[in-house]
Amino acid sequence: MTTPDMSWGAHAPGMAPMPGWQVPGLQAPGVQAPGMTPPSVPRQPTAGSAATRSGAFTPEAARQDIPVLQRPVNGRPVVWLDNGATTQKPRQVIETLAAYYATANSNIHRGAHTLAREATEMYEGGRAAVAGFLGAPSPDTIVFTRGTTEAVNLVAQSWGRANLGPGDEILVSTLEHHSNIVPWQMIAKERRARVVPIPLLPDGSIDQDAYADLLSFRTQLVAISHASNVLGTVPPVKEMTALAHRYNAKVLVDGAQAVAHFPVDVQDLDSDFYVFSGHKLYAPTGIGAMYGKPEVLAAMPPWQGGGNMIDQVEFGRVTYAPVPHCFEAGTGHISGVVGLKAAIDWLTSFGREAVAAYETALLGHAQQALAAVPGLTVLGSAAEKIAVLTFTLAGQDPMTVARRLDQDGIAVRAGHHCAQPSLRHYGLEAATRASLALYNTAEEVDQLAAALTQMQAQAAV
Ligand code: PLP
Repeated sequence: MTTPDMSWGAHAPGMAPMPGWQVPGLQAPGVQAPGMTPPSVPRQPTAGSAATRSGAFTPEAARQDIPVLQRPVNGRPVVWLDNGATTQKPRQVIETLAAYYATANSNIHRGAHTLAREATEMYEGGRAAVAGFLGAPSPDTIVFTRGTTEAVNLVAQSWGRANLGPGDEILVSTLEHHSNIVPWQMIAKERRARVVPIPLLPDGSIDQDAYADLLSFRTQLVAISHASNVLGTVPPVKEMTALAHRYNAKVLVDGAQAVAHFPVDVQDLDSDFYVFSGHKLYAPTGIGAMYGKPEVLAAMPPWQGGGNMIDQVEFGRVTYAPVPHCFEAGTGHISGVVGLKAAIDWLTSFGREAVAAYETALLGHAQQALAAVPGLTVLGSAAEKIAVLTFTLAGQDPMTVARRLDQDGIAVRAGHHCAQPSLRHYGLEAATRASLALYNTAEEVDQLAAALTQMQAQAAV
C-alpha cells in the first residue's frame, strides 16, 4: 500500500486521511497550479517535462490505473470497447473526488471562510487547467457546462438568439451527433433561420467542394465535429474554419470525441467555440466545458439567470458578472471540475503525442483484424480518423451482436449512436460500434475479432 499522501494534509479535524490515498488533483492553497491568482494558463506537460511519466507510453501503464478494468463480466475480464459512449475512470480521478468531498467540500465564490476559499481556488484552478489543455489564451475563455450537449445549447440559445435572423444559414455537417444538430434546428425555427446539411463522401469524410459551394454571406455559423462518434472521421477543421471566416461566419467545433485522443489547440484552429464533455476524457459525468473567443463571449448575452452570474440585482434592473461567470448560473459542478483537472493531469502525464500515436497504431491493427471477419463491413474509411470502428455483420442484427459480445465480457454499443444522418448516409438505421481508448490493447481487439468470427461460423451451420 502506498504512503498516505493527501498532498496538503487538509483532512478534516479529527478525520484521519484514508489509507493509501494519493490525491494528485488536490493541491495546497498557496501551492496552487501556476496562475491561480491572478489566473493564467498552465502549460500542458510535454514529453520529457517533469509532469510527464518517464519512458514510452504503454497501455499497460494506463490500465494499472483503471480499477474497473479489473472486474469480470460474465466470468471474463471486461473488455471495454465503448469509450465513445464514456471512458473508464483512473483511480487518480476517483480518489481526487473522494478526497475533495472528505476534506474540502464547500460552495464557491460566496463564502469568506477557509473551505469556500479553497473550493473556489480549486474550481478556478480547474478552469486554468482546461484552458491549458485546449491551448486557450486565458481561463476567462472557459465556461463550465454539464457537457457537450449543454455547451452547444448555450451557444445556440445565447449567441444564436442574439445573432440569427430570417434567411440566415447554419451549416451543419452530416456526421454530427444529434447534440450538434437539434439545438440548431430549435433556434433556427425560432429565428426563422435555416439549418443546411453539409454532405459526406462515400468514405465518410465531409465533401469539401460541397462545403465551399454552400458557404455564403448568409452563413452565420458552421457546426462541425472534430471527430465523428460513428465514422471516426477527423475533418480538416482548421481549413474549414479559415474558409468560414472569409464569409464572417462563426465556427463551433464539437470536440467530444477528439480531446481524449489527440492534442487540441483552439488558437491554432482559430475556433470561435470549442466544446467537450469530461466523461469522454476519463473525468466524471456531468461536467464539460465550452471555449469561446474572448471578443465573441464578450458580445454574448447570458442564457440562464440565477445566482453566481449577477453583479447587482434590483427589481428594476440587473447587471451581470463578467465573462465567464455570467454563463454559469447556479451552483456549478465543483467536484466535477476538480475531477476534470485530475483527469487532464492523468492523461497529459502520458504525453499527448505518444497516446495519439499508440491509438493510431491500434486502429491500424483493428482495421486489419476486423477485415478478416467474414461478412463484416466497417463504416467510414477517411484518411484521418480516430479509433472508432462502426460495423455491420452480414445476416446479424447489430443489437444481437452487442449482446452476444457481452456474453464474452466485451462491451460495444449498438443502435443509431445519436447520429442518425451519419448512418443513413450508408442506408442504415443501426450498427455496432467498437470505440477504442489508450488503455485498450491489440489482444482485446483480437478477442473482439475472434468472437465475431465465431459468431459468423455458428450462424453458418
Ligand atoms: N458530440 C459527440 C461527437 C458525441 O459523441 C457525443 C456523445 O456521444 C456528444 C456530442 C454528446 O455528449 P454529451 O452527451 O456528453 O453531452
